[in-house]
Amino acid sequence: MAEAVISMKEIEKSYGKHKVLRDVNLEINRGDIYGLIGKNGAGKTTLFKILLGLSEYEKGSIQLENQKNNTAFRKKIGFLIGSNFFSYMTARQNLEYYRVLKGIRDKKEVERVLKIVELDQVKSTYKNYSMGMKQRLGIANAILGNPDVLILDEPTNGLDPQGIADVRKLIQKLNGDYGMTVIVSSHILGELQNTAHRFGIINEGTLVRVITREELQKKEDAVRITVSDLERARKALEEAGVEILEEKQDANSLEEFYFKLLGGNEDE
Ligand code: ADP
Repeated sequence: MAEAVISMKEIEKSYGKHKVLRDVNLEINRGDIYGLIGKNGAGKTTLFKILLGLSEYEKGSIQLENQKNNTAFRKKIGFLIGSNFFSYMTARQNLEYYRVLKGIRDKKEVERVLKIVELDQVKSTYKNYSMGMKQRLGIANAILGNPDVLILDEPTNGLDPQGIADVRKLIQKLNGDYGMTVIVSSHILGELQNTAHRFGIINEGTLVRVITREELQKKEDAVRITVSDLERARKALEEAGVEILEEKQDANSLEEFYFKLLGGNEDE
């Protein structure tokens, strides 16, 4: 049996008259990479803030790691929800600031996390960083103190394909090599398709569906066939009486195309 590290039951939250979370039941298992997918405004950030104790809720309950007291376990959760870094400081100086603020005694901790996110060689100040570097610094800050659970709110927002691939690779490393349970949100389904083990689909404050990667793959009664002539293939199917139920541009192939065109790949 998988062990639930986070269990939210029947959570309701409103801002004034506006209900932003409705009867949300969410279970996260230890060791999972859980992808929370939903459009902008669906309630992902609010859900994370409630989980972290940064925001109040009206109804429901939260149980963290079967503990009576959630406060103790919250110290083991690292998170990236937006970020506040000083533009005139280097990555090292910014992290040193947060290390002290978080009460982490080990002075080597900043260097350790900088190496993990591969920013240890960077000497310039924050204002000169690419979006990808800024996000990686945000993740470095979230993993200061080596948390058990990592919450990343839209970590790939605004990144180019290489930046997105870097963040994905980092999530897999933190989960695989450091044993962190990762909860990551995105408003783009395809983005986490090969990274997350389980997906929660949130829409207008309701968690409408939870599906594992295996179920998702099984559900798709489809194979990918690369053809020499798409028009003739379409016609042949039509003539054979086979209906095309869905035709879509494959997101991965676009990415492959991008990397082939410009060099670099996901494994670099
Ligand atoms: P997401 O992270 O999925 O984009 P949010 O959790 O940020 O969604 O927002 C959910 C809804 O709650 C949105 O309609 C948003 O406008 C509203 N909302 C978020 N924060 C506040 C706030 N502090 N005051 C009022 N409404 C808010």
